[in-house]
Amino acid sequence: MNLKVVFAGFTIVLAFALSITACSPRDIEEVNIYSSRNEGLIKPLLDQFSEETGIRVNLLTGSGDGLLSRLQNEGRNSPADLFLTVDAGALHRAKESGLFQPVHSDILDNAIPAHLRDSDRLWYGLSMRARPVFYAIDRVNPEEITDYLSLADPKWRGRICVRSSDNVYNQSMVAAMIAHHGEEATEQWARGLVANFARNPVGGDRDQIHAVASGQCDIALANTYYFGGMTLSSDATNQDTVSKVAIAWPAQESQGVHVNVSGIGLLQHASNTDNALKLMDFLAGVEAQAWYAEVNSEYPANPNAPWSEVLEAWGEFKADELPMSALGDNNTAAVRLMDRAGWR
Ligand code: FE
Repeated sequence: MNLKVVFAGFTIVLAFALSITACSPRDIEEVNIYSSRNEGLIKPLLDQFSEETGIRVNLLTGSGDGLLSRLQNEGRNSPADLFLTVDAGALHRAKESGLFQPVHSDILDNAIPAHLRDSDRLWYGLSMRARPVFYAIDRVNPEEITDYLSLADPKWRGRICVRSSDNVYNQSMVAAMIAHHGEEATEQWARGLVANFARNPVGGDRDQIHAVASGQCDIALANTYYFGGMTLSSDATNQDTVSKVAIAWPAQESQGVHVNVSGIGLLQHASNTDNALKLMDFLAGVEAQAWYAEVNSEYPANPNAPWSEVLEAWGEFKADELPMSALGDNNTAAVRLMDRAGWR
């Protein structure tokens, strides 16, 4: 198969197309990866892998859903060997679409805890992302934030910011709630949460955290790495937000903080299988995992990898150990439930 033909007409990442045009795939060891992770957060690691192994990595980035449908359209003609994406719900969708093949690697099995990978070995988590509560330091006593369930309490009326229900992070969080509390209790909770919204959902996770700082709401649900990005930023608005907002870790007496993963799977139609497996092992290794934590303020999936200074400063917490597969299994129920609860 000629890779040039497969890529004709695509311009998502010009460098990728050009590099494939430049020399024949038979000349060199390579591996092709589709990633919904933006280039800056993965490319330096891939470059290091290439340096250590001599294997060239061709990276194509895009949105998770966009790459998923692209993989489906390309079918067995796809040049991609690996699919890297964020959120267990998205990984589950790729699995259900039959895109992945199982991987047998002792290195991966030892590096990644069982609850952070697919039970059929079709994908492996590479980083852990926590979704706790962010609160306004001057208006909220963190001891008031006990559990996710308590966010439905009328005392929070008009005080909560969270993004819309079409976002997969919220869908996965609600899917986890369903796994822990059942559908009925979760729906009741979602209705109470919606009643407590300070405004109609708008913007992404960063916007919810900024809205706490600017006084539009008192608490917000968001992923921690966005706050990490603000902490490491020299931008005045970010620094202002960081000075006014703090993290409360909910559910410490119960299931633990809701966590999600970014992860990677070997594609069914991979042609560079050996190189792809080497890259998966590399990404799960302590060095790569530590880099990830350092640059993107995500928690390493590999428990042997050190945390960054930012993560250390936020302190340790109990994370939910619900198998990630539950987030995908309950995704459809979660979406319907949020709709019934009026979460737009
Ligand atoms: Fe994100």
